[in-house]
Amino acid sequence: MTTIKLALQKKGRLSEGSMDLIRRCGIKVQNGIGKLKAEASNFPIEFLFLRDDDIPGYVQDGIADIGIVGANVMVEKDSHVEVVHHLGFSKCRLSIAVPKDQEYNGIQDLDGKSIATSYPVLLKKYLDEQGVTADIHEISGSVEIAPSIGLADAVCDLVSTGSTLFQNGLKEVEQIYKSEAVMVATPDLAEDKQAVLNQLLFRIKALQEAESKKYILLNAPEDAVERIKSVLPGMRSPSILPLAEPGWVSLHSVINENTFWENIEALKEAGAEGILVVPIEKMIL
Ligand code: ATP
Ligand code: MG
Repeated sequence: MTTIKLALQKKGRLSEGSMDLIRRCGIKVQNGIGKLKAEASNFPIEFLFLRDDDIPGYVQDGIADIGIVGANVMVEKDSHVEVVHHLGFSKCRLSIAVPKDQEYNGIQDLDGKSIATSYPVLLKKYLDEQGVTADIHEISGSVEIAPSIGLADAVCDLVSTGSTLFQNGLKEVEQIYKSEAVMVATPDLAEDKQAVLNQLLFRIKALQEAESKKYILLNAPEDAVERIKSVLPGMRSPSILPLAEPGWVSLHSVINENTFWENIEALKEAGAEGILVVPIEKMIL
């Protein structure tokens, strides 16, 4: 069977999420520390462990067939790869930040200033759109200390909680790009490899589908069933099983977790008792 090559980040903020996803797909792999290549024992897939910056290029050139990378890096490298799926982890934003006691009235304040970043392409694009000219100072790491050592007036860096900026005396003033991990593929992937990719995506989608859903079981008097169904819209066709006690039934269904919390009071008022909400591991629609 054809084997597909997947490029993953070797070490960093994407690597744990990527390996976790692969494992939850039931794919077994041993990635010994320092190894640059590994093969799965129960799925036709081979892994290449790389710096994240190199992933778009490897996929574009077909050295790897597919890759998991931050959308920000894919755009930054201007690579010609196809985004085949959004993976929902490593969510972050690329933001401009300035020293926290500096007055800031808008992006025009940065005109003529210097901005340190590891993402010059995304930053330049944003500044051009805003009609602002600034001196972009490209550095590969520790961007957030640039203003305090006099290297730049502002920074443009990835943020998730904002605590790193805060610890370095900076405040976030502009969000310029929202990112998350994406699955990318080489353009014109061969048909047999596309079939393997489809199998992998099928598993990933089943996991994602299950994440926001819960299995619900509850007991209710028979005459409350219609009311309960109207309270929980997800419960269009629950399974209904008779209980030993006459006139009582057990309802089973799949719901959106949010719907449940929003409707818990109404559900009890409608006559539901003994409510159990349990996680679903995988969901195939
Ligand atoms: P490498 O050594 O592979 O080049 P790196 O230092 O460039 O790694 P990381 O800091 O590991 O990169 O970040 C990798 C990706 O993870 C980023 O491009 C971004 O998509 C995402 N990311 C970065 N910072 C955060 C964050 N604070 N929260 C969530 N995701 C983030
Ligand atoms: Mg990198």
